Amino acid sequence: MTKLTPCQRPVRTLLEQLQVGDLSSTRLTEECLHEIKSQNGSLNAFLTLQEESAIRQAEAIDQRRARGESLGLLAGLPIAIKDNICQLDTKTTCSSRMLENFVSPYDAHVIEKLQQADAIIIGKTNLDEFAMGSSTENSYFGMSRNPWNTEFVPGGSSGGSASAVAANMAPLALGSDTGGSIRQPAAFCGLVGLKPTYGRVSRYGLVAFASSLDQIGPFSCDVYGSAILMDAISGHDQRDSTSLPYPALELTKDLDQPISGLKIGVIEELMEKSVDGDIVAGVRHAIDVYRQQGAEIIPIKLPHAEYAVATYYIIAPCEASSNLSRYDGIHYGYRAKEFSSLTEMYSRSRGEGFGTEVKRRIMLGTYALSSGYYDAYYNKALKVRRLIRQDYDEAFKNVDVVLGPVTPSAAFKKGEHSKDPLTMYLSDLFTISANLTGLPAISVPCGLNDKGLPLGFQLTGKALEESTLLRIARMFEAQGDWKTNRF
Ligand code: GLN
Repeated sequence: MTKLTPCQRPVRTLLEQLQVGDLSSTRLTEECLHEIKSQNGSLNAFLTLQEESAIRQAEAIDQRRARGESLGLLAGLPIAIKDNICQLDTKTTCSSRMLENFVSPYDAHVIEKLQQADAIIIGKTNLDEFAMGSSTENSYFGMSRNPWNTEFVPGGSSGGSASAVAANMAPLALGSDTGGSIRQPAAFCGLVGLKPTYGRVSRYGLVAFASSLDQIGPFSCDVYGSAILMDAISGHDQRDSTSLPYPALELTKDLDQPISGLKIGVIEELMEKSVDGDIVAGVRHAIDVYRQQGAEIIPIKLPHAEYAVATYYIIAPCEASSNLSRYDGIHYGYRAKEFSSLTEMYSRSRGEGFGTEVKRRIMLGTYALSSGYYDAYYNKALKVRRLIRQDYDEAFKNVDVVLGPVTPSAAFKKGEHSKDPLTMYLSDLFTISANLTGLPAISVPCGLNDKGLPLGFQLTGKALEESTLLRIARMFEAQGDWKTNRF
């Protein structure tokens, strides 16, 4: 097999090849498994592999296709699943010692949807423990690596999913995004990554981190891949009380229709702050491309955006401290071997089962929620959250979409930020607002820097307007191969 460079599996091409018979699902699945076997030793993208069942499913799809049966949207496409999404009879570790041996007794809603769409689940991917982090360095099972350069992090927390798709181990992957965990690794690995509107995709079966922020979403090499995966997994689910009462999306339908009279908002003040030159150049290039296509570029103000990191790092740990209280060593999960009282059993199980970052978040959250501090921290953060949303509502009176960076820098080296949680937190500056506001946001690759690492830009859309967002992303993608742009 010829060696592939990163990001060589656009879903649109693969689906066409599968449909006309130039490629079989079995062959595609075998090729992905081959990539996993040759690269996973260095990339550590997958924690578990479902080799036999993947091949069996692929063969079944090929037979059904040969018989002329009608097939699902994702028929025959291998997909990798972040290991905080539950799959029946399969380990779901959240990259934590706490859940090292946890086998899920049920399927998440998205897993059921993928099965209905005839996708082929190929394995579960690495993440920062309980999705807390931006580099996968917080994984109990060791970090994942960036396929563009293994000295660099793939981003996080869904770094394993991003690494898998960028390394051609799977054309599609699912991640979860609480504060940027799809968009930031997508930007670091040269992928399209979407955080849908809050409530668009059911969280049933996603292990909870911060329930008011968590959303599941897609990774792919092309915009079409993210669109079709969203079509497959979106839609109402009564088992998630925050699931929106709308049917599944149909994003692929008009994906190639450019938007005329497009108005793009750009936040200049934020861009001027602590953003690397290559990122600014990439974002400016994207702006130029849209301008050439007739878009109007409008400067906007988001006065409260600078408080997003502070707000998020109160709200997310508060919710996490509550959600993670279920890991007590009794119901399920890790239990300490030695203890002399019930209290000691709890404290040892949690002390030994959780890693440093997770404990830090639990302590931050418990503190901010404690009586006497609740109003000063948690309630105040909720108020700022509302102000950030109002800023966007105001901006969207004049623009269709907001364009800016995904991250202040391209992928950083392993170890570069891991000693200092605050610099790690600050790198989430641009992604967090979409979670606090619930708005959809997408990361789109736009070039490579002088180290050969990918650069991305972010588009944030109006609530429920994934369709507009993806069409705008597609407008950029259609202008040529982003890998030839150097900044
Ligand atoms: N990096 C952010 C954090 O550490 C976001 C994580 C996420 O989106 N799951 O909380």
